[in-house]
Amino acid sequence: MACIIDGKALAAEIKRNLKKDAEEFETRYGRKITLAVILVGENPASCVYVNNKVKAAEFVGIKSLSFRLPESATERDVEQVVKSLAADKSVDGILVQLPLPKHINEEKILSLVPPEKDVDGFTAENVGNTTLFKEGINSCTPAGIIYMLKSINAPLCGKHAVVIGRSNIVGKPVAMLLLKENCTITVCHSKTENLGEITRQADILIAAVGKPRFVKADMVKDGAIVIDVGINRTESGLCGDVDFDGVKDKASYISPVPGGVGPMTIATLMQNVYKCAVRRENAGL
Ligand code: NDP
Repeated sequence: MACIIDGKALAAEIKRNLKKDAEEFETRYGRKITLAVILVGENPASCVYVNNKVKAAEFVGIKSLSFRLPESATERDVEQVVKSLAADKSVDGILVQLPLPKHINEEKILSLVPPEKDVDGFTAENVGNTTLFKEGINSCTPAGIIYMLKSINAPLCGKHAVVIGRSNIVGKPVAMLLLKENCTITVCHSKTENLGEITRQADILIAAVGKPRFVKADMVKDGAIVIDVGINRTESGLCGDVDFDGVKDKASYISPVPGGVGPMTIATLMQNVYKCAVRRENAGL
């Protein structure tokens, strides 16, 4: 039976430490770190994520400003909110909860977030820095995954990491961060042939597919470390992209859903907000 990587406990530890850092920041700079969160529409999953992010900010001592726009909001409405937050010196971080309604161009909206306030690490500059292995704001979920792997002292150097999924928010950036850690990387996607043959070679297997229990035990090498990014809402409740019950007897470590990558994403988001605030103060912005 695999050891469980307890993302909830790790995230709680990160947030406890950040609480002290945020207090020190306030004492030093005479102001609270401030995060602006924009939610457009009423997508139930997005509402839950936003509420969890606001709650985490409150715990850490980060002030959060919520901007909730109706589903009918125009692209221009959203643009105006982002632009005014970009210009507001008291705001350290801007988070636009994705997905945006279909009539709004996500890329265009995200491009309005200044890189120094881009707490999600989605702007071209921050993605570029991740790819160049430069200091910057890394995307939250991938950064959380690396933290989880380091927390178990997983040997990364020279190991084969297989990522299933190539999205801009998980698959691609986690592949870059693993490459930075000297893993050998294979990125798989919906057009990949002989997927199981590839995943069975993985020392570290990251599943970011968005399909309930997609990764079965016969796709996993004995002793592999398996990180399940998926959050799928099924009739029987939340589940990941990994068939946990089957895979747990084969893997050496496995992250559960819920209680794995999800809480880590929020904790690393809080780290990014803190990082943005410090960097803005240091840059005199
Ligand atoms: P996307 O839908 O953007 O990407 C899914 C990826 O999986 C795509 O690259 C797709 O390939 C690939 N894929 C789909 N079907 C297959 C298949 N049969 N074989 C191999 N690859 C396949 O999803 P995200 O990356 O945004 O999210 C993935 C999952 O992670 C979701 O469940 C999401 O809810 C969850 N998530 C969880 C987070 C957390 O904090 N825990 C944060 C973000 C996401 P192709 O590119 O060819 O279409």
